[in-house]
Amino acid sequence: MEKMDTGNDLSGHIALVTGASSGLGVRFAQVLSAAGAAVVITARRAEKLAELEAEINGQGGKALAVALDVTDLDNIGSFFDGLRAQDMMPDILVNNAGMNVVKPALDYTPDDYRQVLDTNLTAPFFLANEFARHHIAEGNAARIINIASVGGYNVLPGLTPYCTSKSGIIMMTRGLAREWANKKINVNAICPGYIETEINDFWWQTEGGKKQIASWPRRRLASKSDLDGALLLLAGPQGSGMTGTAITVDDGQYI
Ligand code: NAD
Repeated sequence: MEKMDTGNDLSGHIALVTGASSGLGVRFAQVLSAAGAAVVITARRAEKLAELEAEINGQGGKALAVALDVTDLDNIGSFFDGLRAQDMMPDILVNNAGMNVVKPALDYTPDDYRQVLDTNLTAPFFLANEFARHHIAEGNAARIINIASVGGYNVLPGLTPYCTSKSGIIMMTRGLAREWANKKINVNAICPGYIETEINDFWWQTEGGKKQIASWPRRRLASKSDLDGALLLLAGPQGSGMTGTAITVDDGQYI
């Protein structure tokens, strides 16, 4: 029998990771690069990305750092124009940039609310649109991976607008997957459980944080590397039949 290729080789692909200046975005860029993809790493401050760009390029990968505030919706078209001009138009989009404002709902200001929804929900929609518009016009296959959260399915205290945005992105994933199912664009989501990053590190040393960890079956935070498998599946050849799904990777926290 001919040997089957069961790997997830991403050579020849270009992956764009938003919010790649810290946390999960850094890991996603490193993993996609290790699998052979060139990576476009973006965040608001390009200088914060320089270290990761140098690390990946120094290891024989290919990384390009570009400043992008994902909430600057008027800039998305010219952002992709710039990538096309450098022959770095991605065919894998990881909508990872995200933020939260932890407050009881009653204390939320309209600006707090807008910031969370603009970053976590509106921006991924318009990034996905401009990305897909290019590939649909070219007739190319492409992948979109939206980083949702277990908060898309579960109530996380003090995070109602955040959970609203993550629930929204799960439905957006399904809607776009359906719209582009015949256009060779696969759209999926990953719902991570709690992993220590800059978005939540203030919390885990507090009594409340310690209690929360103790309430989970494995009594620990999940690890960034726990997401590697789902990411590579959704980005690579093995995931070609998957679209419109949301994969939970939470180390059992929300069973
Ligand atoms: P993080 O704070 O370390 O990373 C978020 C990144 O998004 C940062 O680089 C930040 O600068 C960037 N970002 C925020 N607003 C932006 C904007 N307007 N334009 C461009 N970049 C912007 O946190 P993280 O945990 O790595 O979060 C990454 C994603 O994972 C987020 O969408 C988050 O909601 C999601 N998530 C995280 C966890 C967790 O426990 N860490 C769990 C579930 C989901």
